[in-house]
Amino acid sequence: MGNYIGVCHIHSVHSDDGLLSIAELARFFKERDYHFGCLTDHSPKNDGTFIGSREMAEIVQECRTVSDEKFVMVPGLECAAFDDAHILAIGITEAIQSKDWKTIVHEIHAQGGYAVLAHPLFFERRYPWENLKMLDGIEVWNGNKFINFPDISASLMLKKLRKNGHALSGIFGLDFHRHENYKQLSIIISEDELSVKSVVQALKIGGFLLHSARFETDSLAEFSPVNRWKWYCLGWLFFKSRNLAKRIQSMLEKMGIKIPEPLLKIPRKFYYH
Ligand SMILES: [Zn+2]
Ligand SMILES: [Zn+2]
Repeated sequence: MGNYIGVCHIHSVHSDDGLLSIAELARFFKERDYHFGCLTDHSPKNDGTFIGSREMAEIVQECRTVSDEKFVMVPGLECAAFDDAHILAIGITEAIQSKDWKTIVHEIHAQGGYAVLAHPLFFERRYPWENLKMLDGIEVWNGNKFINFPDISASLMLKKLRKNGHALSGIFGLDFHRHENYKQLSIIISEDELSVKSVVQALKIGGFLLHSARFETDSLAEFSPVNRWKWYCLGWLFFKSRNLAKRIQSMLEKMGIKIPEPLLKIPRKFYYH
Protein backbone atom coordinates (compact mmCIF):
# COMPACT_ATOMS: atom_id res chain seq x y z
CA MET A 1 0.00 0.00 0.00
CA GLY A 2 1.39 3.40 -0.96
CA ASN A 3 0.33 7.02 -0.70
CA TYR A 4 0.16 8.72 -4.07
CA ILE A 5 -0.11 12.48 -4.53
CA GLY A 6 -2.02 13.73 -7.53
CA VAL A 7 -3.34 16.82 -9.18
CA CYS A 8 -6.84 17.09 -10.65
CA HIS A 9 -8.11 19.39 -13.39
CA ILE A 10 -5.14 20.20 -15.63
CA HIS A 11 -5.19 21.47 -19.21
CA SER A 12 -2.73 20.76 -22.02
CA VAL A 13 -2.34 22.34 -25.47
CA HIS A 14 -5.32 20.22 -26.55
CA SER A 15 -7.36 22.90 -24.74
CA ASP A 16 -6.94 26.05 -26.79
CA ASP A 17 -6.00 27.99 -23.64
CA GLY A 18 -3.48 25.48 -22.23
CA LEU A 19 0.21 26.24 -22.79
CA LEU A 20 1.95 22.94 -21.98
CA SER A 21 1.97 19.68 -23.90
CA ILE A 22 0.96 16.51 -22.05
CA ALA A 23 4.66 15.53 -21.87
CA GLU A 24 5.54 18.96 -20.41
CA LEU A 25 2.71 18.68 -17.87
CA ALA A 26 3.99 15.25 -16.79
CA ARG A 27 7.53 16.63 -16.40
CA PHE A 28 6.30 19.69 -14.48
CA PHE A 29 4.34 17.66 -11.93
CA LYS A 30 6.90 14.84 -11.65
CA GLU A 31 9.53 17.43 -10.75
CA ARG A 32 7.23 18.52 -7.91
CA ASP A 33 6.90 14.95 -6.58
CA TYR A 34 3.40 14.21 -7.87
CA HIS A 35 2.46 10.65 -8.79
CA PHE A 36 -0.58 11.29 -10.97
CA GLY A 37 -2.35 13.99 -12.92
CA CYS A 38 -5.98 14.05 -14.07
CA LEU A 39 -6.02 15.71 -17.47
CA THR A 40 -9.25 17.59 -18.30
CA ASP A 41 -8.96 19.27 -21.70
CA HIS A 42 -11.76 21.57 -22.87
CA SER A 43 -14.36 20.02 -25.14
CA PRO A 44 -15.90 22.18 -26.50
CA LYS A 45 -12.89 24.48 -26.84
CA ASN A 46 -13.24 28.27 -26.71
CA ASP A 47 -14.09 28.36 -30.44
CA GLY A 48 -17.02 25.97 -29.83
CA THR A 49 -15.48 22.91 -31.54
CA PHE A 50 -15.43 19.58 -29.73
CA ILE A 51 -12.43 17.32 -29.32
CA GLY A 52 -13.19 14.59 -31.88
CA SER A 53 -12.43 10.86 -31.72
CA ARG A 54 -9.09 11.22 -33.52
CA GLU A 55 -7.78 13.93 -31.16
CA MET A 56 -9.14 12.01 -28.14
CA ALA A 57 -7.21 8.92 -29.31
CA GLU A 58 -4.06 11.10 -29.53
CA ILE A 59 -4.68 12.39 -25.97
CA VAL A 60 -5.09 8.85 -24.63
CA GLN A 61 -1.94 7.73 -26.44
CA GLU A 62 0.08 10.72 -25.16
CA CYS A 63 -1.13 10.00 -21.60
CA ARG A 64 0.06 6.38 -21.96
CA THR A 65 3.43 7.49 -23.36
CA VAL A 66 4.19 9.83 -20.43
CA SER A 67 3.03 7.33 -17.80
CA ASP A 68 5.44 4.97 -16.06
CA GLU A 69 5.75 3.25 -12.68
CA LYS A 70 6.41 6.61 -10.97
CA PHE A 71 3.80 8.83 -12.64
CA VAL A 72 0.43 8.25 -14.29
CA MET A 73 -1.46 10.69 -16.49
CA VAL A 74 -5.20 9.94 -16.37
CA PRO A 75 -6.93 10.99 -19.62
CA GLY A 76 -10.09 13.09 -19.49
CA LEU A 77 -12.04 16.13 -20.62
CA GLU A 78 -13.78 19.21 -19.27
CA CYS A 79 -17.24 19.17 -20.89
CA ALA A 80 -19.69 22.07 -20.92
CA ALA A 81 -23.44 21.85 -20.28
CA PHE A 82 -26.00 24.69 -20.56
CA ASP A 83 -23.03 26.96 -21.44
CA ASP A 84 -22.67 27.71 -17.75
CA ALA A 85 -21.71 24.40 -16.19
CA HIS A 86 -18.39 22.64 -16.64
CA ILE A 87 -18.22 18.92 -15.92
CA LEU A 88 -14.88 17.18 -15.50
CA ALA A 89 -14.82 13.73 -17.11
CA ILE A 90 -11.92 11.97 -15.38
CA GLY A 91 -10.59 8.64 -16.62
CA ILE A 92 -12.42 8.44 -19.96
CA THR A 93 -10.94 7.38 -23.29
CA GLU A 94 -13.63 8.27 -25.86
CA ALA A 95 -14.64 11.74 -27.02
CA ILE A 96 -17.82 13.25 -25.58
CA GLN A 97 -19.53 15.63 -27.96
CA SER A 98 -22.59 16.83 -26.12
CA LYS A 99 -23.72 19.94 -24.29
CA ASP A 100 -26.49 18.18 -22.44
CA TRP A 101 -25.76 17.60 -18.75
CA LYS A 102 -27.48 14.20 -18.49
CA THR A 103 -25.94 12.87 -21.72
CA ILE A 104 -22.48 14.00 -20.60
CA VAL A 105 -22.74 12.32 -17.19
CA HIS A 106 -24.24 9.12 -18.69
CA GLU A 107 -21.35 8.94 -21.19
CA ILE A 108 -18.75 9.50 -18.45
CA HIS A 109 -20.25 6.68 -16.37
CA ALA A 110 -20.64 4.37 -19.41
CA GLN A 111 -16.87 4.76 -19.94
CA GLY A 112 -16.13 4.01 -16.28
CA GLY A 113 -15.17 7.63 -15.60
CA TYR A 114 -15.65 10.02 -12.70
CA ALA A 115 -17.91 13.08 -13.15
CA VAL A 116 -17.18 16.28 -11.23
CA LEU A 117 -18.94 19.64 -11.37
CA ALA A 118 -16.10 22.15 -11.83
CA HIS A 119 -15.97 25.60 -10.22
CA PRO A 120 -19.72 26.09 -9.58
CA LEU A 121 -18.59 29.37 -8.00
CA PHE A 122 -17.68 31.01 -11.30
CA PHE A 123 -21.15 30.74 -12.78
CA GLU A 124 -23.19 31.76 -9.70
CA ARG A 125 -25.99 29.53 -10.92
CA ARG A 126 -28.40 27.19 -9.16
CA TYR A 127 -28.24 23.82 -10.92
CA PRO A 128 -31.25 21.46 -10.98
CA TRP A 129 -31.19 18.96 -8.13
CA GLU A 130 -31.79 15.95 -10.43
CA ASN A 131 -28.67 16.95 -12.40
CA LEU A 132 -26.51 17.47 -9.33
CA LYS A 133 -27.34 14.11 -7.82
CA MET A 134 -26.08 12.26 -10.93
CA LEU A 135 -22.54 13.47 -10.27
CA ASP A 136 -19.68 11.80 -8.38
CA GLY A 137 -18.01 14.94 -7.08
CA ILE A 138 -18.06 18.72 -6.75
CA GLU A 139 -14.99 20.91 -7.05
CA VAL A 140 -14.97 22.69 -3.69
CA TRP A 141 -11.75 24.59 -4.44
CA ASN A 142 -10.71 25.71 -7.90
CA GLY A 143 -7.13 26.94 -8.00
CA ASN A 144 -7.24 28.85 -11.28
CA LYS A 145 -7.94 32.40 -10.17
CA PHE A 146 -6.60 34.34 -7.23
CA ILE A 147 -9.15 32.89 -4.78
CA ASN A 148 -6.92 31.15 -2.31
CA PHE A 149 -9.56 29.38 -0.24
CA PRO A 150 -12.37 26.82 -0.71
CA ASP A 151 -15.78 27.68 -2.16
CA ILE A 152 -18.13 27.41 0.81
CA SER A 153 -21.30 27.47 -1.31
CA ALA A 154 -19.98 24.40 -3.19
CA SER A 155 -19.15 22.60 0.06
CA LEU A 156 -22.66 23.37 1.37
CA MET A 157 -24.11 22.01 -1.89
CA LEU A 158 -22.08 18.85 -1.33
CA LYS A 159 -23.25 18.56 2.28
CA LYS A 160 -26.91 18.87 1.22
CA LEU A 161 -26.50 16.18 -1.45
CA ARG A 162 -24.80 13.81 0.99
CA LYS A 163 -27.48 14.44 3.62
CA ASN A 164 -30.04 13.29 1.03
CA GLY A 165 -28.20 10.03 0.43
CA HIS A 166 -26.10 10.94 -2.64
CA ALA A 167 -22.52 9.83 -2.09
CA LEU A 168 -20.63 12.66 -3.81
CA SER A 169 -17.13 13.74 -2.80
CA GLY A 170 -15.42 17.13 -2.62
CA ILE A 171 -12.50 17.69 -4.98
CA PHE A 172 -9.67 20.21 -5.03
CA GLY A 173 -8.96 21.10 -8.68
CA LEU A 174 -5.97 23.12 -9.80
CA ASP A 175 -7.43 24.20 -13.18
CA PHE A 176 -3.85 24.48 -14.39
CA HIS A 177 -3.31 26.12 -17.79
CA ARG A 178 0.20 27.57 -17.43
CA HIS A 179 3.14 27.63 -15.00
CA GLU A 180 1.93 30.65 -13.02
CA ASN A 181 -1.33 28.80 -12.14
CA TYR A 182 0.61 26.42 -9.93
CA LYS A 183 -0.18 26.18 -6.25
CA GLN A 184 -0.22 23.30 -3.82
CA LEU A 185 -3.69 21.86 -4.26
CA SER A 186 -3.68 18.12 -4.46
CA ILE A 187 -5.37 14.82 -3.79
CA ILE A 188 -3.72 11.97 -1.90
CA ILE A 189 -4.85 8.39 -2.44
CA SER A 190 -3.73 5.18 -0.69
CA GLU A 191 -3.67 2.27 -3.10
CA ASP A 192 -1.79 -1.00 -3.66
CA GLU A 193 -0.52 0.14 -7.03
CA LEU A 194 -0.37 3.27 -9.16
CA SER A 195 -2.46 3.05 -12.33
CA VAL A 196 -5.28 4.88 -14.13
CA LYS A 197 -7.65 2.26 -12.74
CA SER A 198 -6.51 2.63 -9.12
CA VAL A 199 -6.72 6.46 -9.28
CA VAL A 200 -10.27 6.40 -10.72
CA GLN A 201 -11.29 3.70 -8.23
CA ALA A 202 -9.98 5.73 -5.25
CA LEU A 203 -11.89 8.78 -6.51
CA LYS A 204 -15.09 6.76 -6.91
CA ILE A 205 -15.07 5.43 -3.37
CA GLY A 206 -14.07 8.80 -1.92
CA GLY A 207 -10.90 7.19 -0.54
CA PHE A 208 -8.67 10.24 -0.66
CA LEU A 209 -7.47 13.29 1.20
CA LEU A 210 -7.65 16.86 -0.06
CA HIS A 211 -4.41 18.71 0.53
CA SER A 212 -3.50 22.39 0.35
CA ALA A 213 -0.40 24.25 1.56
CA ARG A 214 -2.30 25.20 4.72
CA PHE A 215 -4.45 22.21 5.67
CA GLU A 216 -5.62 18.72 4.81
CA THR A 217 -9.15 17.30 4.97
CA ASP A 218 -11.04 14.21 3.80
CA SER A 219 -13.26 13.90 0.73
CA LEU A 220 -16.32 15.12 2.69
CA ALA A 221 -14.70 18.57 2.53
CA GLU A 222 -16.33 19.87 5.69
CA PHE A 223 -14.60 22.82 7.28
CA SER A 224 -14.66 24.31 10.78
CA PRO A 225 -17.39 26.93 11.47
CA VAL A 226 -14.75 29.69 11.77
CA ASN A 227 -13.19 28.84 8.41
CA ARG A 228 -16.61 28.46 6.81
CA TRP A 229 -17.57 31.98 7.84
CA LYS A 230 -14.21 33.45 6.88
CA TRP A 231 -14.20 31.86 3.41
CA TYR A 232 -17.88 32.55 2.85
CA CYS A 233 -17.30 36.29 3.49
CA LEU A 234 -14.18 36.34 1.31
CA GLY A 235 -16.11 34.58 -1.49
CA TRP A 236 -18.91 37.16 -1.18
CA LEU A 237 -16.35 39.99 -1.47
CA PHE A 238 -14.84 38.31 -4.53
CA PHE A 239 -18.24 38.32 -6.28
CA LYS A 240 -19.07 41.87 -5.34
CA SER A 241 -15.75 43.10 -6.73
CA ARG A 242 -15.99 40.86 -9.82
CA ASN A 243 -19.49 42.07 -10.63
CA LEU A 244 -18.39 45.67 -10.14
CA ALA A 245 -15.46 45.13 -12.52
CA LYS A 246 -17.86 43.59 -15.08
CA ARG A 247 -20.30 46.49 -14.71
CA ILE A 248 -17.58 49.12 -15.16
CA GLN A 249 -16.31 47.28 -18.25
CA SER A 250 -19.76 47.10 -19.91
CA MET A 251 -20.55 50.72 -18.95
CA LEU A 252 -17.35 51.95 -20.60
CA GLU A 253 -18.05 49.82 -23.67
CA LYS A 254 -21.59 51.25 -23.95
CA MET A 255 -20.14 54.76 -23.74
CA GLY A 256 -17.94 53.83 -26.68
CA ILE A 257 -14.77 54.06 -24.61
CA LYS A 258 -12.29 51.50 -25.82
CA ILE A 259 -10.47 49.90 -22.91
CA PRO A 260 -6.79 49.35 -23.74
CA GLU A 261 -5.88 45.66 -23.97
CA PRO A 262 -3.26 45.76 -21.15
CA LEU A 263 -5.93 47.15 -18.78
CA LEU A 264 -8.41 44.42 -19.77
CA LYS A 265 -5.85 41.81 -18.80
CA ILE A 266 -6.22 42.74 -15.12
CA PRO A 267 -9.87 41.65 -14.57
CA ARG A 268 -9.30 38.66 -16.88
CA LYS A 269 -6.37 37.53 -14.78
CA PHE A 270 -8.17 37.85 -11.48
CA TYR A 271 -11.87 37.33 -12.10
CA TYR A 272 -13.09 36.09 -15.44
CA HIS A 273 -13.11 32.47 -16.34
ZN1 LIG B 1 -13.97 25.36 -16.49
ZN1 LIG C 1 -10.62 23.95 -16.48
